[in-house]
Amino acid sequence: MWREDSPHCGRQSRSIESASVVRRFAQSVRHSGIAHSRLHKVASDHRGSPPLACAVSRCCCSPHTRLYYTLHWPPFGGRVLYSRELGVLYSGADWGDEGCMLGCTMRAAVCREFGRPLSIEELAIAAPERGEVRVRLSACAICHSDIMFADGAWGGDLPAVFGHEASGIVESVGGGVIDLSVGDHVVVTLIRSCGQCSYCTRSIETQCEGAFELDISTPLSDRLGEPIAQGLNSAAFAELVVVDQSQVCVIPKTIPLDVASILACGVLTGFGAVVNTARVSAGSTVAVLGCGGVGVNSIQASVVSGAIQIIAVDILDEKLELARKFGATHAVNSQQQDVVENVMALTNQRGVDFAFITVGVKSAAEQALALLARAGAAVVVGMPASGVCAEYDPGALASKGQSLLGSKMGAGSVRRDIPYLVDLYQRGVLKLDELISGRYRLDDINDAIASVKRGEALRNLVVF
Ligand SMILES: [Zn+2]
Ligand SMILES: [Zn+2]
Repeated sequence: MWREDSPHCGRQSRSIESASVVRRFAQSVRHSGIAHSRLHKVASDHRGSPPLACAVSRCCCSPHTRLYYTLHWPPFGGRVLYSRELGVLYSGADWGDEGCMLGCTMRAAVCREFGRPLSIEELAIAAPERGEVRVRLSACAICHSDIMFADGAWGGDLPAVFGHEASGIVESVGGGVIDLSVGDHVVVTLIRSCGQCSYCTRSIETQCEGAFELDISTPLSDRLGEPIAQGLNSAAFAELVVVDQSQVCVIPKTIPLDVASILACGVLTGFGAVVNTARVSAGSTVAVLGCGGVGVNSIQASVVSGAIQIIAVDILDEKLELARKFGATHAVNSQQQDVVENVMALTNQRGVDFAFITVGVKSAAEQALALLARAGAAVVVGMPASGVCAEYDPGALASKGQSLLGSKMGAGSVRRDIPYLVDLYQRGVLKLDELISGRYRLDDINDAIASVKRGEALRNLVVF
């Protein structure tokens, strides 16, 4: 496959045997003024035999796409595809039944300055390279991590597109992708894993140390050709994403795509912290600090794991009411009640076996240890801004045999855990519809974010 370097495409060009011939053809087409009637002539000038058929059309994958030309031309292996605006050309041999292999344009919410509203812009997005897939998104949920990044709490490059809790339909696949097909319904996650490093081979994909072309070369650029960073490995506040094949998981077409989007992060993170990180066993007692979109999933997972007592802690009564609907047996309002006193009273002064800190708040991280029974474990799930430090008493931790565990993305394994969660949903065990507070258009994404910041929403979705 050969592709011209283009201001719209920050990726590397490749060479094929006939690259120079193809380049001459492309230049001739450009000089010809792209008159459709002349394409046959241009083609025959350069290759002796004219193409068998020629079509001018719009890219199949975006209503915003520019014109391209399809030529059925045996000397080039069957088909050639050329776009004047994008400067992209594919020869037939590499252009199989993989869907549209054009780079194209799409709309996305771009962060150009930390703490400022996102701007809706038209961006160019490259075709998927080897091992990558392009997905047309159906929905992307807004997660607190997106807001932390957009507010600058964790640094990172700008301009960027955030968004990482998404679902959609596979539109094209790069070379070497064997288990995904055009038309597959998928969940798109930020977990990019090589499958071969020392972490991946132990199913700790969230700590993968593999290297990916997407880590160094973003598939996104703006109208001026300036690169736009792919935030959270996904850039899913957009109509299309190009991600590594490991980041997606095929789901049955029987589950609504918008509902499935929240499996990618919020559900996986809250549920996985209980099932994968803490491995809560039947008969355990649990406290969940923070009952937002992650916390309620820790509550659901505690129910599935057979916990006998699940104490929800939050500052809002509405959230505590919801927590009870998701399976909490008790609720403590941390603004109105003494949390330690109440949890001790509810557990015969013993404390809980597991405390999940699902909010990125220093005081919650410190308080969790005071709620623990002997041999109990506190699990840090929510992440505060960089540099925030919590204090604890190491002597007490050691003498009581307690543990402090970190849980990133629920220690999730995309292709192991997402089908399991889909199965639980379809059996009526896992609530997902109830987690969705609102649906917004991309143009209204700043309203959706503001609502999350006010604490009103479990999960707000941007739907495309
Ligand atoms: Zn997230
Ligand atoms: Zn790896």
